[in-house]
Amino acid sequence: MRALVWHGKGDVRVDNVAEPEIQHPRDAIIKVTACAICGSDLHLLDGYQPTMESGDILGHENMGEVVALGSEVTNLKIGDRVVVPFTISCGDCWFCRKGLFSACERTNPNAEMAIKAMGHSPAGLFGFSHMLGGYCGGQAEYLRVPMADIGPIKVPDSVSDEQALFLSDIFPTGYMAAENAQIEPGDTVAVWGCGPVGQFAIRSALMLGAGRIIAIDKVPERLAMAEAGGAETIDFSQVDVYDELQFRTKGRGPDSCIDAVGCEAAGHGAVDAVVDKVKAATFLATDRVHVLRQAIMSCRMGGTVSVPGVYVGMGDKIPIGAMMNKGLTIKSGQTHVQRYTKPLLARIEAGDIDPSFVVTHPASLEDAPEMYKKFRDKEDGVIKVVMRPHG
Ligand code: NAD
Ligand code: ZN
Ligand code: ZN
Repeated sequence: MRALVWHGKGDVRVDNVAEPEIQHPRDAIIKVTACAICGSDLHLLDGYQPTMESGDILGHENMGEVVALGSEVTNLKIGDRVVVPFTISCGDCWFCRKGLFSACERTNPNAEMAIKAMGHSPAGLFGFSHMLGGYCGGQAEYLRVPMADIGPIKVPDSVSDEQALFLSDIFPTGYMAAENAQIEPGDTVAVWGCGPVGQFAIRSALMLGAGRIIAIDKVPERLAMAEAGGAETIDFSQVDVYDELQFRTKGRGPDSCIDAVGCEAAGHGAVDAVVDKVKAATFLATDRVHVLRQAIMSCRMGGTVSVPGVYVGMGDKIPIGAMMNKGLTIKSGQTHVQRYTKPLLARIEAGDIDPSFVVTHPASLEDAPEMYKKFRDKEDGVIKVVMRPHG
């Protein structure tokens, strides 16, 4: 079959690879009808995520049709149309029972690698390095879905692929980011990053009662989409973000700050961001934490900083003194996707949100390498690419 394969930093190609097979009674195989490129995939493309190997198949935002089932998957049948969470979770361990699906303790066969790097191991993820399980991703014609009795949910005919697909990741991620922001009715929420995750964080924060959203980016079409979603905006290439946020909140600062940028934050000449870039390039640090610093400095006393943006290792000069003295709460994590799929599908069916608003570039799988680069470089107005491996 055809699949998008990682060959090294900056090098992804569509190759012929072996088709997946059922390996365990809880597996399913799906024929991938739609898959998307995520901002997290850019961290793989750009070589930030450790323990990638040449030959790895990428892709963790997937949906498709069930074509084979292991004997223990009784809730699905051949031909079902399903969307698949990017987190692989058993549904039955101590963490899964608490709803902490991305902390599942049974789905990372390479847990030892993760424990060395992070103290404990998160769940396995599709197409996201060996440290996080070494599972094949779904930017491919077919995908093996482990724990298929727990993860995938059926999609009703009334919901299109473009509406359902983002239940695999970015809609739950934006929603959990907003929940983690601990929003009280009328609160002011600042969102750094108007990529797909930021867009869903903005709309979710409004659904959860925010009174005012201030969205920050520098890409005009992304800022425009944020405005269409109900946010006011700041272009970080034009003004000092901290000063502007204090000005707009009369010196108090936003109640909640959401970092939907993560480890590749740009700094537009800010000294700390230049130092981050040099350190990351020379392996003195792994993450560029400019936005996290700015969020901590900008947030009001006693406020909450929510971090859906992905960080992979070590970051420098995080203002721990500000965090402590201001009494901030920091909440973060890979999304507990399985917790959100059904409730958010219900919101789509109720017409509260149509997630397809974010799609700018429908494409084929063969276009993937070009689309990765366009998405990374923010060329051609790309905000979200959806690929159809079977046309
Ligand atoms: P993206 O790359 O499309 O968006 C990032 C945006 O941040 C871009 O529009 C960029 O212009 C903007 N940006 C860069 N520097 C900035 C700065 N200094 N201030 C403000 N904006 C800045 O990616 P995405 O798909 O929206 O994902 C965003 C982040 O969320 C990534 O780190 C991704 O890995 C992460 N993510 C996390 C989860 C999770 O489970 N927690 C799931 C999906 C994605
Ligand atoms: Zn993702
Ligand atoms: Zn589990």
